[in-house]
Amino acid sequence: MQYPITGRQLLGFSESALGKNTFQTFNPQTGSPTPWEFREATDSEVHTAMEMAVSAFKTYMDLPGKDRAAFLRAIAVQLEEQQEDLVTVYMQESGLPQGRARGELGRTTGQLRAFAAVAESSSWMEVRIDTAQPDRTPLPKPDIRKCMRPLGPVIVFGASNFPFAFSTAGGDTASALAVGCPVVVKGHPMHAGTSEAVGQCIQRAARQTGMPEGVFSQLQGSGTGLGASLVKHPAAKAVGFTGSKAGGLALSRLGAERKEPIPVFAEMGSINPVVVLPSATEPGKGWAKAYAQSVTLGAGQFCTNPGLLLGIKGSGWTAFSKVLAAEVDAVGTACMLHSNIAAQYQSLRADFFAQPGVTRMTAKNDHEGDTRGTGAVGMVSAAEFRKNASLKREVFGPFTLLVTCEDREDLMRTLAGLEGQLTASLLGNEAEIQSASPVVALLGEKAGRLLINGVPTGVEVCPGMHHGGPFPATTDSRFTSVGTDAVKRWIRPLSYQNLPAGILPPALKDDNPLGILRMVNGQMTAGPI
Ligand code: NAP
Repeated sequence: MQYPITGRQLLGFSESALGKNTFQTFNPQTGSPTPWEFREATDSEVHTAMEMAVSAFKTYMDLPGKDRAAFLRAIAVQLEEQQEDLVTVYMQESGLPQGRARGELGRTTGQLRAFAAVAESSSWMEVRIDTAQPDRTPLPKPDIRKCMRPLGPVIVFGASNFPFAFSTAGGDTASALAVGCPVVVKGHPMHAGTSEAVGQCIQRAARQTGMPEGVFSQLQGSGTGLGASLVKHPAAKAVGFTGSKAGGLALSRLGAERKEPIPVFAEMGSINPVVVLPSATEPGKGWAKAYAQSVTLGAGQFCTNPGLLLGIKGSGWTAFSKVLAAEVDAVGTACMLHSNIAAQYQSLRADFFAQPGVTRMTAKNDHEGDTRGTGAVGMVSAAEFRKNASLKREVFGPFTLLVTCEDREDLMRTLAGLEGQLTASLLGNEAEIQSASPVVALLGEKAGRLLINGVPTGVEVCPGMHHGGPFPATTDSRFTSVGTDAVKRWIRPLSYQNLPAGILPPALKDDNPLGILRMVNGQMTAGPI
């Protein structure tokens, strides 16, 4: 390995190892520890990282967008240059296959470049200019100009299920850096080596492109104390998190209870309901197979995993459920990310099958005590489902629950009782979908992304994407963590009233030196005033 893993904290351009306690990561394929030992970050290192971020913010926030874009692109190049080493460490710590590692790295560099383009375009600044009308009666109108500005240092929690794309150099980090916020990452303890190797790439890119020291730091730890200290630190201005509902809610409370409360943007997953209208159960449509693949993809460890399929009683739905279960059984067991996640999956799955009225549709069992997860399908009536809150929990793994509704009314009643979701899907032919507008409207109330005739796994990174949803899918349904609008979590508006021309920020100057599209007196224009 060209840049060895040291087990140290990355503070600005340096490393630090003040902590006495250490932890290790494990190869979930073998259960053996990886060769590295990681120091637990101390409070003093937390403080140093945050102070450096505050100091970096003063210059980083005002850098031209093209400089921040150069930094993001340099990170992407570093990741590509270190690809072989990064993929090796990733596979050792996650148990995920090489194809997934390379694909996820490509997604990560793609995201970095997409956010570089956002930084360069300055479109995120949302400029609004209302020029003065000194002669207006009865009162003159002042000159008012508004644009977005970065919040300040952001804390990013690495996610266990995306060691590249939603961790150290993932979407949260890239979106915050794009709009001028320094980032302090709390690496995920299950892939601390991957986090360090990626963090070193960011450090090198920051040096190469002349970024202020402190624009990026990364701290590692294996308990909840480190994350809590970061969220509570007075210099933190916002938090990005992907993980469990318990973790997201705990951090959200910490953010709200601070002397100066800060937003915690937590993406906590969901069960992603899928409504299967009768025509979609026809064997020729292939939806049972497609859904078996979606449920078992990546051992089901995706926030968009379809955990709930609802159909209407009848021979079509019965046949569909049998094919789906057989297809899930036909998929081999897959290594899960960590022994704890595998144990949690196995126990939750067993708990579902023990609930009243639940029929087990799949035959295969897990190998107790190992880190593999076996796909599983259960079936229950809508009436039983509605009255049992335990059946509405997310099962993180390759599991889905089929809910049999008596008719459309029963379906609507069941959907109405669901909590907020990241996605909701509807399968059917055009005529069925046209006649299902109440179902579409209800799903739209529940979810952040509505899909017709598709599977929810596979989240495109593009401006049109919304990866968020009403609580408890996320803590704030107005924001996305995937796609270019993810930057909106890290900015706030500032209006300037009657500011002398000489000290206006470039985005607000009359001659529009950035050449950006602005709303001037109600009209969109890229021209000067
Ligand atoms: P997690 O337990 O929520 O942990 C994620 C990160 O948050 C870790 O760095 C963890 O730190 C930190 N954290 C959690 N609770 C905290 C608290 N009370 N105070 C401070 N920091 C806290 O998620 P995970 O480790 O990735 O996996 C556990 C379970 O989360 C999975 O089995 C799954 O159910 C769920 N999950 C869901 C999604 C999704 O997209 N829906 C994604 C990943 C995981 P430490 O680990 O150092 O304590």
